[in-house]
Amino acid sequence: MLTDGCGREINYLRVSLTDKCNLRCKYCVPPEGVQRLDHADILTLEEVLRVISIMTSLGVNRVRFTGGEPLVRKNVISLIQKVSKLENAPRMGITTNGVLLDDYIEYLIFSNVRDINISLDTLDPEVYESLTGQDALSSVMRSIQACLVNEVNLKLNVVPIKGINEEDIVSLAALARDYKVAVRFIELMPVGCACSYEGLSNDEVRKKLNEVYGAETVCEVEGGGPATYVTYPGFVGRVGFISPMTHAFCSACNRVRLTCDGKLKLCLASPECLDVKSLIRSGASDAQIADEIKAAVLKKPAEHGLKFTDGRNMIGIGG
Ligand code: SAM
Repeated sequence: MLTDGCGREINYLRVSLTDKCNLRCKYCVPPEGVQRLDHADILTLEEVLRVISIMTSLGVNRVRFTGGEPLVRKNVISLIQKVSKLENAPRMGITTNGVLLDDYIEYLIFSNVRDINISLDTLDPEVYESLTGQDALSSVMRSIQACLVNEVNLKLNVVPIKGINEEDIVSLAALARDYKVAVRFIELMPVGCACSYEGLSNDEVRKKLNEVYGAETVCEVEGGGPATYVTYPGFVGRVGFISPMTHAFCSACNRVRLTCDGKLKLCLASPECLDVKSLIRSGASDAQIADEIKAAVLKKPAEHGLKFTDGRNMIGIGG
């Protein structure tokens, strides 16, 4: 078991597969774009598989692929299939913008990906295009339908931002009224270019939803994740709130992140990390890497300290 210096069990690894994305969400990618990593600096899929294998041997039992956009990484399915065949195969999930998902859904299900999160901040095609730079909402909606038809464990992640999509909160929550999905509102974190925007607090979102949909009923906590879930009269799905800014959940944090350039980040917002890529490329054995990971995890910060980010934008960290 991997345990940090605060006694928290670390069993969840988020793996960023690429710093490339097919969208340019304003709060994730700065207007001038981001400096692309050199191909040689990105972990190969063999290296990613090796890190996952070492981490699962240490007790990690959940892995989520993210990015950038994970589905733009070449041969992503072949990696996922290999992870599914590891001796200690973890439960797998993917966080995607959903634009390409419809093309991949059958392969993902076949490869045992059980949890699919789609990021969707608006149901208005014009707002979507203005926020993401792409006229791609219809592709995302097709992907959502494909997930529903295939009965995957689907969550839709929404980041409410003042002046951008605050008008969409009610209609997005309605997806949980009509479909068996969890619609989750995530507070905007002041990371990179997101600092130029003001997010809504989940207290504000919750108040609005209670006004429109009636009194919420709090659902049982499940899975140990950071979300609080509620439901409203007549809803078939649930609405979740992830509130890193107003209700920090660091004491229950169970995760570390592998960036696509091979840094094991101990906390989304802190610069603390282990350079796993250098270890791998300098010829370290699995046992040596495992020891370094165990030592690094002991230094995981007790709290997220979102006030001292390491300057990366979310696209570079892997949200
Ligand atoms: N491309 C994939 C996607 O769109 O889901 C994965 C990467 S994206 C960085 C992952 C998630 O991070 C998205 O749901 C996005 O809305 C969220 N995100 C990006 N910047 C954020 C910020 N500053 N605060 C909170 N969430 C953020």
